[in-house]
This record gives sequence, structure tokens and C-alpha cells, in this order.
Amino acid sequence: MNKLKSYKAICLDMDGTVYRGNEVIPEASVFINSFQGKDIDIYYVTNNSSMTAERFQAKLLRMGIHASTDQIMTSSIAAATYCKQHFEGAKVMMIGEEGLEQALRSEGFVITDENPDVVVVGIDRNITYEKLSNAALSIRNGAHFIATNGDKAFPTERGLVPGNGSFVKLLETATDREATIVGKPEPYMLEFIRQRGYSKEDMVMIGDNYDTDIQAGIRFGIDTIHVSGGVTDRATVLKKDMQPTYLFDSLTDWK
Ligand SMILES: [Mg+2]
Repeated sequence: MNKLKSYKAICLDMDGTVYRGNEVIPEASVFINSFQGKDIDIYYVTNNSSMTAERFQAKLLRMGIHASTDQIMTSSIAAATYCKQHFEGAKVMMIGEEGLEQALRSEGFVITDENPDVVVVGIDRNITYEKLSNAALSIRNGAHFIATNGDKAFPTERGLVPGNGSFVKLLETATDREATIVGKPEPYMLEFIRQRGYSKEDMVMIGDNYDTDIQAGIRFGIDTIHVSGGVTDRATVLKKDMQPTYLFDSLTDWK
């Protein structure tokens, strides 16, 4: 198990891996705090596009976890980075919330409702027919079509409600175009972390969801650790063709 100690960048899913709702997972907290003062960087990697890095930072701090905003990689930050690398200076139409708006503005994008070069779609809990129509018309007029993530549903106290992926599918149906999806299981977020000065051998992706976290790591070509207790149970993981590098009951299995 010495291999575990040689990673330089630990990429951690948040919901179901570090916390559940507003409750920190105690083993995760012990795990994260054990890296204090060591030359190992932790990154928090989430498909949640609604919140800014500052909000995630504050949420983690309420759980006793100190993180800088640079350590937080949301699908909104990744979408803005993707746009910066592919469409610098473009006019962007956005469906989304505070997290996406701030990420796009901080990469210097002008957000417009008319004639965009790019349409970026993230979760928007105030979505309307008008917003969807404007996006569909722009995509039909040739705008690039980018989505923060493809999650079809996400959990709330009431149960599973429509996620961004459901609206992306609606727009794909309406436009006969396919979105470029930036979030997990696509490997973009991990690639943008790698670009900060790591090699793939330095990196490990840890998460509870096989279809997003583990798949992202496998597709990117880095080691992966599945942690039980979240979305995918171990029995389900064991049936998959592509196995994670390690299977943990909890993050205190890290030795
Ligand atoms: Mg998770």
C-alpha cells in the first residue's frame, strides 16, 4: 500500500465522499486533516455547477475542513476553463446560477442574451421556456453547445429532482446537436488539475459514484479509489468490467 503515499494530487469527490448533505463524513475529515503540512495537494472535484468556489470553501470550513478556492474544481469552473482554452474572447450565453456566472466572468467572458458564440448550460433552478428557447435558437444558429455536467437527477430532501443533464437532453432534442459535457465522467476537470503541474502518475481520483467519479479517473488514465457508503455499493462496482485501482470501506483505509 506504499503506492498511496506517492501521489501528489488527491482529487476528492465531495457529496457522498467528504460529506452527506450538510454532515461531514468523520473518516473523510480525519483523512483530509492527515495531509496538513504535507507536500500533497487535495482537490475537491464536483459536478455541482450552482455554487461558487467561495461557497464550497465556506461549506467545507463549517465542517472543519480548510481549503483554498484554488483547491475547488466545480463543473462551472471547468466549463469556464474549457471555454477559455477553446473560445477565448467569445460572447457567451448562459443558463445557470451564481457558480457558472462567476466562473465565466472571472475568465473574462462577456455574458449576452443575443447572438452568442457559445451557449453554456448549467443547472438553473429558475429555468424558463424563454431561456430554453433562446439557447435552442442560438445553438441552431451555430453557437457552440457546452454543458457543465450531464447528471440527469440529483438528490434533495424530497428525493431525486431533475438535474442539468435533463435540460441538456431537452436542448439536444430540440436542436439535433450534441452538447460537449465538461463534468464527470468526462475527464476535463482532472485534466485542468493536471495542467497545474502534475503528471497522471501523481494523481488519484476518489469517489463514491462509479459512473461519474471512477469513470472519470479511468477515462483520464489515473488511479482511482472507490469509497463505499455513497451512490454505488461495492457489489455493483465489483460487477463492472473496469475496476477501480482500490476499493475502500472508508477513507481511513488509506494507509
Ligand atoms: Mg459523490
